[in-house]
Amino acid sequence: MKMKKFFVAALLLLSGAISMTAQTQLPPIPIDEAVRIGKLDNGLTYYIRHNEWPEHVANFYIAQRVGSIQEEESQRGLAHFLEHMAFNGSEHFKGNDLIEFTRSLGVEFGSDLNAYTSIDQTVYRVCNVPTARISALDSCMLILKDWSNGLLLQKDEIVKERDVVHNEWRLGEGPSQRLITKALPKIYPGSKYGVRMPIGLMSVIDNFKPKTLKKYYQKWYRPDNQAIIVVGDIDVDHFEQKVKELFGGIKVSPKAPKVVPEEVPDNDEAIYVFEKDKEMQVNQIMVFMKHDATKPEEKKNMDYLIEVYVKGVISNMFNARMQEMTNDPDCPFLQAQGDDSNYLLARTKDAFQLVGVPKEGRDMETLSTLIREARRVAKFGFTATEYERAKADYLSALEKTYTNRAKITNDAYGDEYRDHFLNNEPIPSIETLYQTMQMLAPNIPVEVVNQVLPELITDSDKNLVVMEWAREADGLSYPTEADMKAAVQKARNEQIEAYVDNVKDEPLIAEMPAKGTIESETTDKTFGYKELKLSNGATVLLMPTDYKDDEVVLQGWADGGKSLYGEKDFNSLKIFDEAIGMSGLGNFSSTELQKAMAGKNANADLSMTELRQYINAHSTPKDLETMFQLVYLYFTNINKDEKQFQNLINTLDMALKNVSLSPDAVYSDSLSQTLYCHNPRFTTPHVEDLPSMNYDRILQIAKERYRNASAFTFTIVGKFDEKEIRPFIEQYIAALPSTGEPAEKGRDVQTLAKGKVKNHFTMKSESPKATAIEIWSADAKYTLENAVKIDAVGQILSMVYLKTIREDESAAYSCGASGGINLRGGTPKLMMQAYCPMNPDKSEIALRLLHEGMENAAKQIDPDQVQKVKDYMLKQIDIDAKTNSYWVGVIDKMRTFGIDIHHDYKKTVEALTPESLSRFIREKLLSSGNWVEVVMLPEK
Ligand SMILES: [Zn+2]
Repeated sequence: MKMKKFFVAALLLLSGAISMTAQTQLPPIPIDEAVRIGKLDNGLTYYIRHNEWPEHVANFYIAQRVGSIQEEESQRGLAHFLEHMAFNGSEHFKGNDLIEFTRSLGVEFGSDLNAYTSIDQTVYRVCNVPTARISALDSCMLILKDWSNGLLLQKDEIVKERDVVHNEWRLGEGPSQRLITKALPKIYPGSKYGVRMPIGLMSVIDNFKPKTLKKYYQKWYRPDNQAIIVVGDIDVDHFEQKVKELFGGIKVSPKAPKVVPEEVPDNDEAIYVFEKDKEMQVNQIMVFMKHDATKPEEKKNMDYLIEVYVKGVISNMFNARMQEMTNDPDCPFLQAQGDDSNYLLARTKDAFQLVGVPKEGRDMETLSTLIREARRVAKFGFTATEYERAKADYLSALEKTYTNRAKITNDAYGDEYRDHFLNNEPIPSIETLYQTMQMLAPNIPVEVVNQVLPELITDSDKNLVVMEWAREADGLSYPTEADMKAAVQKARNEQIEAYVDNVKDEPLIAEMPAKGTIESETTDKTFGYKELKLSNGATVLLMPTDYKDDEVVLQGWADGGKSLYGEKDFNSLKIFDEAIGMSGLGNFSSTELQKAMAGKNANADLSMTELRQYINAHSTPKDLETMFQLVYLYFTNINKDEKQFQNLINTLDMALKNVSLSPDAVYSDSLSQTLYCHNPRFTTPHVEDLPSMNYDRILQIAKERYRNASAFTFTIVGKFDEKEIRPFIEQYIAALPSTGEPAEKGRDVQTLAKGKVKNHFTMKSESPKATAIEIWSADAKYTLENAVKIDAVGQILSMVYLKTIREDESAAYSCGASGGINLRGGTPKLMMQAYCPMNPDKSEIALRLLHEGMENAAKQIDPDQVQKVKDYMLKQIDIDAKTNSYWVGVIDKMRTFGIDIHHDYKKTVEALTPESLSRFIREKLLSSGNWVEVVMLPEK
């Protein structure tokens, strides 16, 4: 089917309404003029843009329109292997110099320096490079140049990397990877998509000859398949010149092979696929109705914007219906959704796709229901009220982005230009997009959307693919192909009726509360925020900022928390946040509330830690009042929604019943048991705990903890006008109920393991898994110095482990450490956690190196590593300090501990020395003697 033609036809229908003359060719989407795009004679494309958010940093990318689909059979896995080799020796960066060099710029390997390989693209990036030194930026261009055609691909480095990639494969081996590998050839018959998972074949990874890798590299990494992208606080002319200098001389042979899109053949008969796995925890049903994808060259004109819009609202409306259906206790699935997008991995084929998670034993009913609901929208369309909500959601999201247009990040631009190069996704300026869609969307009636539906959703067996992934266990029976076929047929034979949209048309708050007042106000000397005391005793802190023009965040907290409750409430408290989250508010059930919130960018949530209860909320400046209304309702009127709670319990039941099948879940359970000395307060929930999770009790606890506003401090940070926000504070916050009593302090209930505790166990699994976590902890004061030091030590250990465990010994794919101050109990604790999912054959080496890393650091640390960590922290703090959440944290630490973690941060980082960090490890961390080790090894 030709989607394109259809959308043009739909457009013509409304051409009168938007006074656009009927024409077959719609105007092109103008490209943002702020990005300089060019193409060299050899075919290399570049995108260069000056952008100052965040300031003083820049991002560098090289995107290639090749991936694993270009591999020959003998090269399966080598596109991804090649990506690894990009960090293991090139013309200008020998060995691991690249990682070391970028780290010296304050760029962290893994987050800022990274790459990925997929079926049809390979993208490398160096991000957040400080722009202070132009020579450093030029070196980043040299890195891109080396990646494009200067990799050394030395034999000894290849040999070392075989284990790293093999370990990466092992780490990913789980039910999903096994199922998808088995299923792909069946869902892509006659196409290379069925046999080109990027991770490839381990038989190839372990044995390929270096020249086989070189062949792929030379054949496909060519300027005409590559784009260079530079975005940041940079001089565009300079980098355009650099691109010409560095890449202009590369020649492309006229005989070079073309990148040909891999086709997905149509299927005349329906394809039914069933796969099972012993570690699968919940079943999944998938339905695909395939159709041609919009071709890259068809994305140039305005009608493509309409296509994207129409598909977006269709998915929004369909998913809202699915969500509403879960209210019905009889609904056969726990969750379901649908949309029109790529047919899994393929870019040349799209599909209207449905996914459902069935309740136990109701797999075929779920399949019938998915088909039935798709048919219902195809036959009757969506209602005008559903569409009004979806359109409002779309327009408000667009407006939110537009409002924040001056602060679009380098990352966001980088991804846009990548997608423009690889898939020809349009890149209009946000102003153009906003104006165009503001004009178009309101003029697209629901009838136009409804006319698209029967084109996407058909009753035909042609191009239909149905797949189930199921849990394999003794005593279970599985659907046959005939069962799946019958379930589809059953739905097709049914008489169906139109959906009725029940909407509650009333304000969120039925009766406005009596307003309170602002009694007094002072200005904080350290950070300049206003502190208001309200008539009900509540405290409000106001800090207007300019970091994001579309964001206001509110955090309210009071002492108390879960520690005030005893053992009989432990299980209920474990799902407190989720149970409150799915409840309704005021006169609205959870579904009614969702409908009422259409087009509004505001949200609020309750949550509880051991020592505090919180309310977290955020909104755009425009929807500020709605945010305050939600806050008011959470304190005063949570609406019990029994059906949604039952759905939550059913979901937990499904997930927890089979948790013992998953090595990862078993491991994390063992870890929390060991770390907290089997204290039932801290263990992860088990299926036996479900009957004692009591909704009424949860609601009662919420009432108790949120009945006294005078114990709460509400910190509001973001883009707001003080004059405008004050009436809302008086109307909603000052009106909250209050007892006037001081907050009840939480109790120190933490039972973190003391002394040396080891838990080694074995676990049987489909593919052998080994994991280790080491935790060192000690009581400590919360101080800026302690916080900075424990963080720095974590980063240093990560560098050490990466070098010793991953690079030198290939004993693990990923490993690292992170440090922080744990504030969960009464006394703050320094905690250092080292983690390592190991190669089972090398677990002894990995464990030894985990210990040695810490022991050695306690004696001495490489000054060069300390310098790199300091550079990173000094750079990162400037980026973090431009976010609202950072300031919520800073204000919180000041008010809780009386500690200013902002002003002296850089001074504290600059004062770090190898000696001071080693001494910190010896005297503050290891001296406590608290050390927990949890190791899982495969059962022999
Ligand atoms: Zn990898």
